[in-house]
Amino acid sequence: MYERVPVMADRIPKSMRAAVCKAPGVPLEIVRLPMPEPDSDQVLVKVHACGVCRTDLHVADGELPEAVYPIIPGHQVVGRAVTLGANVRRLTAGDRVGIPWIGGCCGRCPACLRGEENLCDTPQLTGCNRNGGFADYVVAGAQFCLRLPDGYSDTAIAPLLCGGAIGYRALRMAGDAAAIGIYGFGSAAHLITQVALHQGRQVFAFTRAGDFTAQDFARQLGAEWVGDASMPPPRPLDAAIIFAPAGELVPAALAAIRKGGVVVCAGIHMTDIPSFAYRLLWGERQLRSVANLTRRDGEEFLALAPQIPIAATVETHSLEEVATAIGRLRNGSLNGSAVIVIDPR
Ligand SMILES: [Zn+2]
Ligand SMILES: [Zn+2]
Repeated sequence: MYERVPVMADRIPKSMRAAVCKAPGVPLEIVRLPMPEPDSDQVLVKVHACGVCRTDLHVADGELPEAVYPIIPGHQVVGRAVTLGANVRRLTAGDRVGIPWIGGCCGRCPACLRGEENLCDTPQLTGCNRNGGFADYVVAGAQFCLRLPDGYSDTAIAPLLCGGAIGYRALRMAGDAAAIGIYGFGSAAHLITQVALHQGRQVFAFTRAGDFTAQDFARQLGAEWVGDASMPPPRPLDAAIIFAPAGELVPAALAAIRKGGVVVCAGIHMTDIPSFAYRLLWGERQLRSVANLTRRDGEEFLALAPQIPIAATVETHSLEEVATAIGRLRNGSLNGSAVIVIDPR
């Protein structure tokens, strides 16, 4: 048995800064909290950077039944392992790790036994029902930490941990679609567009009406066509992925795909889907969601990213500016991804 390794223990402070959401709908507040301690299967990670995801917004707004409060959001965490629990063997103190949305699963429920850990009945979700990375330090399950490819800075890799990895899972669910529509051109969309183009697909980007900044951004990244989400594409699409949390996009996307095509809802939260005519689904069209990610999704995507290479367009904010970053995501003024830089290096 390994002893718990108190690496740098003398340099780990007794308390840390954290951005806490105390209750649904209450703005995040920077507070000082006692330093968390890892249990025998966990690792204490010093956070360098943490990406901002639309799901953080849903946690802050109280839109997720899984969320507990108070909570430190943030689930695209990049940092270094500083203290290892007694049973942790797969990591060494000093390792750079990524901590994604899936922070643990029970290993015993039917979904876990089928190998579908993303569908676990009692999942641990980083920044949702266990504390996340908008803080100086975070405790994570060692088995769920991802190894990160070299060649990416902490800031550059952070948005890949959720927007990239869950977007990649959504793209896989779209099958071998050659012409793919993407609804909502934010962090996940701009990353997954790069994968789709690399795979030889054509991307049709749909944005909010009149969002010419997002449309120009999609065009620069190589989208074949850009337009408002209410517009029909120039030709029927083979598949569509919906990243925006707007239920009215579901019938719009079903209308845009060909017979036998698939619409993938990739967000964790969406407003109610309005009723629609059965003929939109008729013709063996499919409608499905993508929930969370597995460790394998994260590993596969992080192995693929440097081969393309995927480059996130990033704006950075300090921990004190986390509310500003979330606000920019909320009002659609963000281009690409926002990353909270906790410990610049
Ligand atoms: Zn389970
Ligand atoms: Zn996310």
